[in-house]
Amino acid sequence: MTAPPAPEAASRLHIVQATIARATADARRKADDVTLIAVSKTHAADAIQPLIDAGQRIFGENRVTEAAGKWPALRAAHPDIALHMVGQLQSNKAEQAARLFDCIHSLDRPSLVTALARAMDKADRRIPCFIQVNLDPLALALGEGQNRHDTEKGGCAPAALPALLTQARAADIDVIGLMTVPPANLEPAPWFALLAKIADDHGLPGLSMGMSGDYATAIRIGATHVRVGSALFGAR
Ligand SMILES: *Cc1c(COP(=O)(O)O)cnc(C)c1O
Repeated sequence: MTAPPAPEAASRLHIVQATIARATADARRKADDVTLIAVSKTHAADAIQPLIDAGQRIFGENRVTEAAGKWPALRAAHPDIALHMVGQLQSNKAEQAARLFDCIHSLDRPSLVTALARAMDKADRRIPCFIQVNLDPLALALGEGQNRHDTEKGGCAPAALPALLTQARAADIDVIGLMTVPPANLEPAPWFALLAKIADDHGLPGLSMGMSGDYATAIRIGATHVRVGSALFGAR
């Protein structure tokens, strides 16, 4: 949890950027088709500042309260920063989230659609969202799922997606794509490919998938947004 010295943060960023460049080239995609979200959860402002100094401008957090504590000051100093919410969002934090974040990756249930739509009205801003899909039920159905205690992981069941998408659009929420955290302890590539297929079926261009261990794989399969934490900030 100690802050890495600035040169280390900058060199980690360069390594991640080079990996993204290589993966996009492999997939015959343009490097700027992929948005790098630096997931700074658990890291204090003094650990984040070196990445800002190195030019990173898009950051991700997974808790509203933590983000509200450290980002207003950083953003006041760097107004061009964008902040993405990548973690599960409680409906009672929707109002705070609508003021604090520029994109939500974890829209996953009807009650949150309702709460976020109302929160965006109140904040008088519309922020783009990804619908988070939980592919674990499919892994289980294939007999591949782990009996995991990761029940905290959010995401709608694939079967619930069409209705949620319809509801979100009716509530004037701009759904730009799908997000997933693949089933644990399995090869991630088939799950990334499945998410890409589902997004394509629904005409959704955005794919938020890939973390420190698998973002190059995700990019080769079509990720438009990668959420990278420990590869940039070190272990949490
Ligand atoms: C923490 C987190 C990440 C980043 O994970 P790393 O393995 O540290 O890169 C990405 N997405 C979500 C939803 C997270 O909670």
